[in-house]
Amino acid sequence: MRDDQWLREKLDKIWSEYFLDVPKTDKVIIHFSKKCRNRLGSIRLVNNTLSEIKINGFLKDPDIPEFVCEAVMAHELTHYVHGFGSSRPQLYKYPHRGGIVAREMIRRGVGHKHYAAKDWINTNWMGFYESKVHR
Ligand SMILES: [Zn+2]
Repeated sequence: MRDDQWLREKLDKIWSEYFLDVPKTDKVIIHFSKKCRNRLGSIRLVNNTLSEIKINGFLKDPDIPEFVCEAVMAHELTHYVHGFGSSRPQLYKYPHRGGIVAREMIRRGVGHKHYAAKDWINTNWMGFYESKVHR
């Protein structure tokens, strides 16, 4: 079952696998948030200390492949590394401009999950969403 504990363990694994040069900290928290149509994840800095990663509640659904969840977590962790939603130094002016997230994920060896998730989302997300909302 995908719950917040599952998220924490997954994040820890992704961190160890692809972000090992970045010191782990208990100042990064992750949990599921509300289900919504447009946003799969987000990260924000709370009280200038705590990085809160929120994952769209729809991603609890086993119909969504785990690599999608993993890609969303790696995406948010990339923002953290770039200093967005993070107390780390901000490395860029904007969080997404110039494809910096994808580039960083590719550089770190997690590009395959980025692209697999992107394909799955482009092909299936709206159908998934409609099927959950209109049944
Ligand atoms: Zn983003």
